[in-house]
Amino acid sequence: MAVIGAGVAGLTAAGLLAGWGVEVSLFEKSPFLGGHAIQLGCKATDSCVKCGACVAEDQLMGVVRNPKVSIHAGTQIEAISGQGPYQISFCSHSPLVHADRCNGCGICFQKCPVPGAILQGQAPRVGPYVAIRQDLCRFFDDGACSLCRETCPQGAIHLSAGTRSGQIHVDAILVATGFAPYIPSHKPYGYGLFQNVITSLDAERLLREKTLMKRPSDGRLAGRIAFIQCVGSRDARQGHPGCSKICCGSSLRMARLIQSRQNDAQIAFFYIDVQNFGKDFQCFYANARTSIEMIRAIPGDIIRTEKDELEVIYFDPETKVSKEAFFDVVILSVGLLPSGDNKRVARMLNLPLNDSGFISPSGDDRRPSPAGIYTAGAATGPMSIAESVSSAERTVFQIIGYLGLR
Ligand SMILES: Cc1cc2nc3c(=O)[nH]c(=O)nc-3n(C[C@H](O)[C@H](O)[C@H](O)COP(=O)(O)OP(=O)(O)OC[C@H]3O[C@@H](n4cnc5c(N)ncnc54)[C@H](O)[C@@H]3O)c2cc1C
Repeated sequence: MAVIGAGVAGLTAAGLLAGWGVEVSLFEKSPFLGGHAIQLGCKATDSCVKCGACVAEDQLMGVVRNPKVSIHAGTQIEAISGQGPYQISFCSHSPLVHADRCNGCGICFQKCPVPGAILQGQAPRVGPYVAIRQDLCRFFDDGACSLCRETCPQGAIHLSAGTRSGQIHVDAILVATGFAPYIPSHKPYGYGLFQNVITSLDAERLLREKTLMKRPSDGRLAGRIAFIQCVGSRDARQGHPGCSKICCGSSLRMARLIQSRQNDAQIAFFYIDVQNFGKDFQCFYANARTSIEMIRAIPGDIIRTEKDELEVIYFDPETKVSKEAFFDVVILSVGLLPSGDNKRVARMLNLPLNDSGFISPSGDDRRPSPAGIYTAGAATGPMSIAESVSSAERTVFQIIGYLGLR
């Protein structure tokens, strides 16, 4: 059995299938396991707010040392042929680091002269903690720099580049290739130009590393923060009319987390309408509204002022006049879009895509999948971590039936 994609959906499925005694080959294109969910931070304040962020690491722990699961990280699927059984051809790239020796001490980051050449994994309990980008690393230019290898106290960095091609035969394939976050460079919000305009995924990573929300431009504490919702979703002009479902809940939880750590943070929340999330939503939302300024408008423009503030310009629907407000940091809540890999894998497997470009879920009788090919998680449309886990559970149940194990 092959599982393509080691996000929370793929990990859940791999762990469950292994529990049924199935030998699983788990393919992940990035050097790290866990997909997007592993990059999210826990948003608990004085109690758990059920954001689901801890689930990814739990699922990961269930898979990493499981003898039934062979993990192929840093691996691209090159071709898939057959009609069940299937033959998968793949190519794996070395992360240039011995995962079992790296203890995440961070010395390689301090020594590396090229920003971005060393990537950091997000799962604190599971290696590899780092991987090296061969396309940026100077060692692979002219061999002149190998500071990371020389200074690593664990001898974990080997810099011996290598690709390994392989083929396997499997009875069934689960596609769990997930989604791609919208990159807001085409919106008039200065993303990529103004350092203090960041995406919700950037904010997640920042809050995982540091407890306080600071301005990326100068490291000063951000006292005024704006969230702008529906960036790249519910946006017909960008070709993405659908709602991404999880963003309102995720951003409101993040806003409350920031306020719990920075008591005097002033937060404004620009939105179209707030999507319901979870059964405790009404109570959570009522509380959130007492401390967050909710503005039902989507800003048109962001300008950086001479004082390095961000001026957000929006049309106030209540007073019907154009207004401006000033912030230290603006967080763009980006939509969940179909990933380019979805299309590639769908083409290889002859899988139908829906109108939004996501893969139709397996079990959808209107668009049946080929025999032995299954889908789970956000590859089939925007969904939360809990929904991704239950979609993987449902799909495993179907697969077990297909493999004749129940
Ligand atoms: C900013 C942000 C905040 C969020 N906050 C929350 C929250 O608070 N609560 C919540 O429940 N949900 C939240 N979500 C949603 C959550 O991230 C998703 O529910 C979850 O990541 C979906 O898991 P997945 O495994 O389906 O997809 P992904 O996480 O996208 O994982 C897919 C994996 O497949 C790999 N892959 C893709 N193509 C290939 C290929 N061809 N070969 C091999 N591997 C491949 C990818 O590298 C990736 O590792 C948030 C999302 C974002 C962007």
